[in-house]
Amino acid sequence: MHMREFTYHRPADVKAAGAVLEKAAEAKLVAGGMSLLPSMKLRLAAPSDLVDIGAIAALKGVKAEGKEVFVSAMTTHAEVAADAGLERVLPALADLADGIGDPAVRRRGTLGGSIANADPAACYPSAVVALDAVVETTKRKIAADDFFTGLFTTALEPGEIVTGVRFKVPDKAKYMKLRHPASGFAVVGVFVAKTGNTVRVAVTGAGPSVFRVPAMEKALSASFTAKALDGITVAADDLMSDIHFSAEYRANAVAVMARRAVAALA
Ligand SMILES: Cc1cc2nc3c(=O)[nH]c(=O)nc-3n(C[C@H](O)[C@H](O)[C@H](O)COP(=O)(O)OP(=O)(O)OC[C@H]3O[C@@H](n4cnc5c(N)ncnc54)[C@H](O)[C@@H]3O)c2cc1C
Repeated sequence: MHMREFTYHRPADVKAAGAVLEKAAEAKLVAGGMSLLPSMKLRLAAPSDLVDIGAIAALKGVKAEGKEVFVSAMTTHAEVAADAGLERVLPALADLADGIGDPAVRRRGTLGGSIANADPAACYPSAVVALDAVVETTKRKIAADDFFTGLFTTALEPGEIVTGVRFKVPDKAKYMKLRHPASGFAVVGVFVAKTGNTVRVAVTGAGPSVFRVPAMEKALSASFTAKALDGITVAADDLMSDIHFSAEYRANAVAVMARRAVAALA
């Protein structure tokens, strides 16, 4: 089976990219192509126009500014993993990027592509939510809690381009992932971030979309120890089930990964 024909564009700035998105019938942005190209090969996506944002210099790079880190949308996972400034202030994010997929995926895949795609098993959404980040686009700024809206869906509107993500630097943070043995994707991933007495816990892989666990956040805010999580469970009812891992297995893995993340930090 072949991909449908499409017109390829490689604009030099986001304005030109936005103009193609507005004009073309069914245009799609392509970043690393790691998710989009396989879905085109399967004809799950058949855009009329592909807008490659890989030549837009403004969409590249990591900036650590005081208590914030801005990661531009086209920064690859390998670049995030290797960034010395990030490793100093927010090593949990560099570690997360270093654990994504395999070397080829890390060299091509991007932060913007990952969060726009909103794969339920993607790692980045958990960091974006746990670190109370803000997603910046060509049109507005979107709080993390409002960005991920469901299975492969986000608050992004047609023609809106993610330009980067502004992360708050926590006192400490850790991402623990139960890796899918074949792809590296998260069967369950738990990102725990502590800033002062505020703790945020975000879970990916388990449900149709990233979610927080208020009971864990409350317990950890009172006592930041693995023991504080004793007896706290997430209901399996809303979790995903597939031939490899049942919803009950995923629910248990959330509790285990959360305890491991806290134990690593406490
Ligand atoms: C074998 C394999 C293993 C993987 N393992 C993991 C893993 O362990 N953890 C993990 O988190 N991910 C994993 N991934 C996903 C990967 O890391 C990429 O993040 C993901 O494929 C999307 O990024 P991309 O840059 O390739 O986006 P693309 O495939 O180019 O685009 C994806 C979607 O996002 C849209 N888009 C891209 N950039 C923007 C933007 N700036 N603004 C708005 N929309 C945009 C595109 O139009 C498209 O709809 C894996 C992928 C593969 C193929």
